[in-house]
Amino acid sequence: MTVKTRFAPSPTGYLHVGGARTALYSWLYARNMGGEFVLRIEDTDLERSTQEAIDAIMEGMQWLGLNWEEGPYYQTKRFDRYNQLIDQLIEEGKAYKCYCSRERLDALRETQMANGEKPRYDGTCRDGADQEAPYVIRFRNPTEGSVVFDDHVRGRIEIANNELDDLIIRRTDGSPTYNFCVVVDDWDMGITHVVRGEDHINNTPRQINIYQALGAPVPEFAHVSMILGDDGAKLSKRHGAVSVMQYRDDGYLPEALLNYLVRLGWSHGDQEIFTRQEMIDLFSLDAINKSASAFNTEKLLWLNQHYMKSMDPAYVAEHLQWHMQDQQIDLENGPALEQLIGVMAERCQTLKELAAASRYFYEEFEEFDATAAKKHLRPVAQQPLELVKEKLEALTEWTAEAIHQAIQDTAAELELGMGKVGMPLRVAVTGAGQSPGLDQTLLLIGRTRSVARITKAVEFVANRANS
Ligand code: GLU
Repeated sequence: MTVKTRFAPSPTGYLHVGGARTALYSWLYARNMGGEFVLRIEDTDLERSTQEAIDAIMEGMQWLGLNWEEGPYYQTKRFDRYNQLIDQLIEEGKAYKCYCSRERLDALRETQMANGEKPRYDGTCRDGADQEAPYVIRFRNPTEGSVVFDDHVRGRIEIANNELDDLIIRRTDGSPTYNFCVVVDDWDMGITHVVRGEDHINNTPRQINIYQALGAPVPEFAHVSMILGDDGAKLSKRHGAVSVMQYRDDGYLPEALLNYLVRLGWSHGDQEIFTRQEMIDLFSLDAINKSASAFNTEKLLWLNQHYMKSMDPAYVAEHLQWHMQDQQIDLENGPALEQLIGVMAERCQTLKELAAASRYFYEEFEEFDATAAKKHLRPVAQQPLELVKEKLEALTEWTAEAIHQAIQDTAAELELGMGKVGMPLRVAVTGAGQSPGLDQTLLLIGRTRSVARITKAVEFVANRANS
């Protein structure tokens, strides 16, 4: 049997982290089993579904690298198929027309609630005759016995059929409802394993009865628990329940988010870092945690920095380029992004931060950071700056070692500590008091630019001394 899984989002908003994790688990299982992965857009809610959301979901999936073999299928294109099967069920007596008015159903519901009962349809039309009134179609749920399934995450689940009422499968306007469409789709598409959020667990027994009524094989199920915020409350925007694309905008690598999401509810011993291939090789539905997981931004940041530092710089550069453009940093005159990553990844947790902190490698800065200048561009800095500039200009080769030597020689000659040369030099060439090691920084800024900036700093110091 070829394993086939699917991700079946309703396109009513962007792809958020919860959805992305469900998609990831479903995708990983298919990959692990050498199976196939299907994307299905559940757009039957015409009022809430939008093309924008469909595009956003696909963009998120693509950015994460969660590719699919089949689809996207659209439920709205399959109404004929659903209706054909509903008609078949009516003919077989497995579904029936229900003429109960909204008023009657509301009153029924109120009485049941007032009596402390669970609201449910009372079966009035189960054996009724045809009438001249608008009707819905209800599924004739078995009244006896129970539905049992072994959920890969939650274990054995048994629900008595008398707990389930006869669910509407076609509305008065002729449109089929969610629980029916899902079953038909999963059957027609040959889905063997349904991985989805635990908010659907109550639908599963009803769906299993529909599979059986249709004579369709019942797939296996894995209901994934919720993601909570770090305060234990339901995940919200405040915690980062934002769109997957917002994580791109905020400077995360897809590998970091994937690694974060795979661990959020699944584990393999105490391993924290997983390459894409490791995730595929090690993933199993049975190792998904039953309990809800809390979102932890600190950990995501840590993973992001890990991937920024350890992945192929050429790959990281592709992602960094997006941020450089986004921040309108002109890359024309400056180091290759691969080199930049080599020195800056150590110091930043996101690509966005890295881009923002790297502008001085590419563009001139307007003025020195006031605090850093006040502290380090003082009259005593003039002589070390002039001397180090002279030495840098005279270097026969522009290498990190040579630059380092020039700074050291300056300090030795003037009998100063390295900091007394280094700090003014750092502020001179970067405009601020923090940067990677000076030799690397100057190396990447380049000689002409470094020297010109030192000249400017010397002028600044001189002006300051005179004012
Ligand atoms: N369309 C449903 C949702 O977005 C998922 C249904 C399913 O996975 O069975 O919540």
